[in-house]
Amino acid sequence: MKTRAGHSLRWLSLAVFIPLLLLGTLGWMGTRAQVRAAWASAREEAKVSALAVSASLERELVSAVESAPLFPDPPVPNENVPPEDDILDLTDPIALRALREDPQAGFSASGLPRRVLAGLRLLQYGGDALDKERLKSLAIGEAASVLTPRVLAETGGDSDGAWNRGEKARAAFRHLTEVTPEGRWIDDPAVAWLAPADGAVRFIGRESFSQSLSRAGAMLPEWAALHLSTDGRTTAGDRTDAEVMETVPVDFPGEVRLEIIAVKPELIEAAARQQARWTLALLACAVVVSGGALVLIHRAVERERRLSAMKSDFVASVSHELRAPVASIRLMADALVAGKVDGGTARDFHGLISREGARLSTLIENVLDFARIEQGRKQWHFEDSNLVELVVETVSLMEPLAAEKAIVLTTTLPDAGVDATVDPVAIQQALVNLLDNALKFSPAGSRVAVELAAGDVDSTWELRVTDEGPGIPVAEHQRIFEKFYRIGSELRRETQGTGIGLSLVKAIADAHGGNVRVFSPNEGGSRFIFSAPCSPASATHHDIS
Ligand code: ADP
Repeated sequence: MKTRAGHSLRWLSLAVFIPLLLLGTLGWMGTRAQVRAAWASAREEAKVSALAVSASLERELVSAVESAPLFPDPPVPNENVPPEDDILDLTDPIALRALREDPQAGFSASGLPRRVLAGLRLLQYGGDALDKERLKSLAIGEAASVLTPRVLAETGGDSDGAWNRGEKARAAFRHLTEVTPEGRWIDDPAVAWLAPADGAVRFIGRESFSQSLSRAGAMLPEWAALHLSTDGRTTAGDRTDAEVMETVPVDFPGEVRLEIIAVKPELIEAAARQQARWTLALLACAVVVSGGALVLIHRAVERERRLSAMKSDFVASVSHELRAPVASIRLMADALVAGKVDGGTARDFHGLISREGARLSTLIENVLDFARIEQGRKQWHFEDSNLVELVVETVSLMEPLAAEKAIVLTTTLPDAGVDATVDPVAIQQALVNLLDNALKFSPAGSRVAVELAAGDVDSTWELRVTDEGPGIPVAEHQRIFEKFYRIGSELRRETQGTGIGLSLVKAIADAHGGNVRVFSPNEGGSRFIFSAPCSPASATHHDIS
């Protein structure tokens, strides 16, 4: 029976958890599909914005290009002086100074401003700081034509005002030899790109390049960043933390590819992750609810199974309990009718027939009352009663049964008597059941004591039935009051019984607003205490648990 219940529970668990597992797998697959879809749509977005960004970047880069004119260096005086730059032959500092300060000095044959050439010449003849400053201001004034490497080198690396352009140009000139005609991206803090041009150098300053990039990058989705692959080899894909979503060429001299990289993948997957969290939460709820439901179902099934087993036991016990006394009554009655017994035995038979009859009617009363209480049909008839009288009368009813087993039945009653509102028939039935158990489970020759007393609490009364039987394990103290419950297996039970006696006692106690408890010390013996208020609040009906 138990294994069948275990099997059905296992199947039930499978029936609940397999769909949950399927649901979990589907949820997981759904999340993965969502992540994939999110990436696909991010790629699509990257493709669209790549074209827009590339077009804007082209415009930005083109407008960021600056140019600086390229002039030959002024020749060194006294060395290979070309005849057209004859002023270098001048050795008179006064004449050179006059020339340097002459706004009308004009240009030398090679195209350099004669004022600057005079300044340089003065510098070479052991010029002073004043000459250097003067030369610098001349160079700034005539910037368009004097930004030669030589002038730049002579005047030092100032970077203020108009000279600023000179610094970038100077950096551009420095890299001029590495540059191919189509231009090149270079690794320099001042200049990002440069290309030679006719009589000039074209370049993009590092700062304006960064500004162009960030202006174009502002058009990107928030999860993406921009990367320019300028040497044809290094790409954003070389980074382990970024995925290249789209690559487009930029129409600009030199090899440039624009790459859109996903720098915040978590933003792309955010919705899918949120969904996954909800799915997980739902699954967890489903598991908890199903688990709880399974436990409840299991308990209910177990309870039903126990009840039905106990009911079968009950039917078997009642049949047996009925059959035995009926059989002996019939045998004795037949013998009496046949007149085969002498006078003494006949008296014994009459006594026995009367006791067996009483047992039968107690049993039948129990079964009928049990049925009435279960169906909620039991009527309680409360009335003011003298409990002392009630107890004495009931105990005297049980005396023959005690005498059969040579059990000493004692009664202790309060001198003052106890008056209470009770259903006397029900109280008698409760006491009969408690005494019947005490006598049934006690060994021959032992003592059973009945005590009536005022209760611990004011206006209550107590009925105690104490025996010297085997006692009741603590673990069973609650269960013995359940309907049909009997301690031990059917085979081990030596005493007859139906398992409804104590449940009836409990229902009677409940109906009186009281309770029934059991105490059983380790050394054996049991004490049942039935207590109730002297004036129960109301006469209600109570179901049997
Ligand atoms: P039963 O008809 O079996 O006596 P009850 O409901 O009256 O049914 O009692 C339930 C069980 O409690 C009994 O089967 C028995 O195991 C145990 N029990 C009740 N009273 C006593 C007692 N005085 N001593 C030992 N065991 C008892």
